[in-house]
Amino acid sequence: MRKKPTRESVTTIAPDGARHFLQPAIIFGPWWKARRAVAWLLIAFFAALPWIEIEGFPAVFLDIEHRHFHLFGTMLGLSEIWLLFFVITGWGFLIFATTALLGRIWCGWTCPQTVYLEHVFRVVDRLFEGDHVSRAKIDAQPWSEPSKLLRRGGRFIAYLFLCWAVAHIFLAYFISIPGLYPMITDAPLAHPAAFVAMAVATGVLFFNFWWFREQLCLIICPYGRLQSALIDDDSVIVGYDEKRGEPRGKPARDISTGDCVDCRRCVQVCPTGIDIRQGLQMECIACTACIDACDDVMTKLKRPTGLVRYASLRELDGGQTRLLRPRTVLYAALLVIGLIVATVAALRVQPAAFKLSRPPQTELYALSETSVANVFRAKIQNKDEIPRRFFISAQSAGTKVTVLNQSAGMVIAPLTELTLPLTLLVDRQDYRGEFNLILRLRSEDGAISLLQKAHFIGPDPRTLQK
Ligand code: SF4
Ligand code: SF4
Repeated sequence: MRKKPTRESVTTIAPDGARHFLQPAIIFGPWWKARRAVAWLLIAFFAALPWIEIEGFPAVFLDIEHRHFHLFGTMLGLSEIWLLFFVITGWGFLIFATTALLGRIWCGWTCPQTVYLEHVFRVVDRLFEGDHVSRAKIDAQPWSEPSKLLRRGGRFIAYLFLCWAVAHIFLAYFISIPGLYPMITDAPLAHPAAFVAMAVATGVLFFNFWWFREQLCLIICPYGRLQSALIDDDSVIVGYDEKRGEPRGKPARDISTGDCVDCRRCVQVCPTGIDIRQGLQMECIACTACIDACDDVMTKLKRPTGLVRYASLRELDGGQTRLLRPRTVLYAALLVIGLIVATVAALRVQPAAFKLSRPPQTELYALSETSVANVFRAKIQNKDEIPRRFFISAQSAGTKVTVLNQSAGMVIAPLTELTLPLTLLVDRQDYRGEFNLILRLRSEDGAISLLQKAHFIGPDPRTLQK
């Protein structure tokens, strides 16, 4: 029997501490249909991205093996990984701003856990095991019951297949569809690392959707716990209109009751097993199922809908929701500033990288009869999908510097890196002591120009005149 929700304990833990599996009822209301449309759009987007090619690469391709990250036509190398800082903080501020305004809209509408659990795996549950009453009966049956073995076995296989498919799409983000194909067709031992990654991803997904389910939101996800800090009385949440609903009761028994007929339909449909009439709770993922359920009941009773609805605590208390508040303005401002900085930074990413260092265990300078020489080590990365010819030249204020072997430049293949020794020469007669200079890496077509500062080291010039 289902435990009655209270604010003091979690419904999914039985009094003896064992796990109590919820079997929420389904309500095909307008909010549920809207959420299903969003969920399928998101799933289609997730599945399509590795197939969409932009400039010869998948739209999102995190090529860890070669340390290249392709994002919608832009390629980032490891040296640009700092841009992730803006992505993560931008994401954080976006979540902060939307939570302050619209509560846990992320959880209810777009979180992959909700999207897949509610709109893929629960569909499989209903397909194999029927509605919530039938599923609860199957839960209670012993495994010796053939119909349980058949239905749950079928569901088990369907879950395994779906988790396997999702794991493959996930892997395609890291190895691309053409890279994934031989891994599917070849023997597992031909690609052991990919096979292990796929098996682990399938196993984790299966464990989560088959057994762990809403526990991820209740125990692991920190966002639910953060909501008390991010939400205030003006945040729009899924809430119960206590003023209108109470005192609750059956209409036939007591005509002086509020609009809540205590049918508990809102509790039956809740995927986290709470009673929304007990107020805002950490377990509420704002899935809107209780809105649809209650609206359905109200419509049948010919009463106005909206006893459970999207509203702020202030509105439910009779006041008016304020959208413009210090926290919403602050979060939105931080988000906009972050977006501007990230856009400017991303636009400044060059399709090549140029690094300079001193090779280890070499003399700082070398003297010949005619010149002073310094040897550097140059690392050049061509991040483009076409081969490029590069030249390196030196500029200094007042001292003529020659870069050896640079008249023909060097051709670097697409998406590769070249490390080469770079010898700089200064004629003895021009040498006036140590100096700073700039080395310029230039592509043949002039599209790329990267600078590196360097310091030319040499002896005291007076010693050369002796
Ligand atoms: S569904 Fe509506 S009427 Fe029924 S118990 Fe919930 S709040 Fe009350
Ligand atoms: S209380 Fe309502 S909105 Fe919150 S999780 Fe339960 S059904 Fe979804």
